[in-house]
Formats: sequence, C-alpha cells, structure tokens
Amino acid sequence: VSIRHHVSDDLLLSYAAGNLDEASSLLVATHLAMCPHCRSRARMAEAVGGVMLEGAGEAPVAPGMFADVLAAARKAAPVAEAVAAPVPAVHSEIVLPEPLRSYLGGDLAGLQWKRVAPKVDQILIETEDRRSRARLLRFGPGTRVPTHSHDGRELTLVLTGSLHDGKEVLFRGDIAESDERTEHDPHAGPDCDCICLAVTDAPLRFKSVFARLLQPLFGI
Ligand SMILES: [Zn+2]
Repeated sequence: VSIRHHVSDDLLLSYAAGNLDEASSLLVATHLAMCPHCRSRARMAEAVGGVMLEGAGEAPVAPGMFADVLAAARKAAPVAEAVAAPVPAVHSEIVLPEPLRSYLGGDLAGLQWKRVAPKVDQILIETEDRRSRARLLRFGPGTRVPTHSHDGRELTLVLTGSLHDGKEVLFRGDIAESDERTEHDPHAGPDCDCICLAVTDAPLRFKSVFARLLQPLFGI
C-alpha cells in the first residue's frame, strides 16, 4: 500500500529550515524514512532554502516568492535519488522506522506500554525540547478517540493498522495534520491494533464531561 497522506508544504519547509520542535521533527523524519516522494520534496525545499538565503540582503523576500521558486524547481530536472541506504531485512515485528527506533529502541515487542483508557495504551517519548510532546499510542480494534478540538497542532503518523478520521482512512506511513479548526473523533480500524506516533503542541480540549474527566489519565 503506497502512502497517500504526506507532509504538508508548511511543515516540510519548517522541517527543511530547521525550525521545527524536536517532536515534530521526529515525526516528519520518520515519515521521510518511509516516503521517497517526501524525501525528494525535502531535498528540493533545502535547495530552495539555500537559494533564498544567498539572495537575502539583496532584495526583500516577497510573499509568494517561495511558491514561485518551488514551481520553477518542479519544472527543472528532477532531483536525482540519493543512493539508498541498505534496507534491513524486514521482519513483521519490526515496524519502527528510524529515527523513531533510536528513541524507543528495538522492536515493538520490547516496548513498555502504559494503559491510559480502555483499549488505549501509550508510551511517552522523551525529548529534550518541551515545546511539544511525542507519544506512541496504541488503540485496540475499533477504539474511538473522544471527540476533541485543539489549541495547537496535532500530527499523527500511522505505523500499524488503520485510522479512520472523517472520510479519510489512513494506513502505515500516512500523516494526519489537525489544528484549531479541526474537530474530529478518529477511530481505529476494526481488524487490528492501530499504533500511531502522535505529536501535540498544546493540550487537547475534549468536548464531553466524561472525556474531560479522562483527560488527566490520558495526560494529553
Ligand atoms: Zn510523504
């Protein structure tokens, strides 16, 4: 199954410019490890960033300039694929791509999950940068996340199973990006556990009283 939900332009540019917090960078980099399409986009963004820096001081950067440059770059010759790193043998139990694996170590079987709600487990991922929080979440089949909205941005990267969010179904490698305007109640697909990497930059606001009572348990 190929990845259909990619890193947004905004997020990719911030990443390429080194402006993202650690947790969000971890999520983007983990997606890039699985997605040749976005690796190529990231190289382009870095190249364009370099051109813009060289031009800085000579002329102010006009709004829309980046889009123009990017459009020009798209027309130019495609960026050659970097020589791919050797791909380790795939074992079904190893589902954690780098750099996520460096944070959590080993494969899924060795992880210490903490139950935070019925059929919901999590592992908080330690980052030095506290501007946002990264966690691995595991939802049992069909588990619904209480309806919530956001004060900030929520990024979700699916690692196993599927996540249904509105009309969209996300599979391994897919990213969902939510912000203040999003109100949603994602749920795991019916067939197996859904494990996601989730990054939030502000506490979620749950709608129902019951969900608000659960919030301290989630710690999100
Ligand atoms: Zn992608």
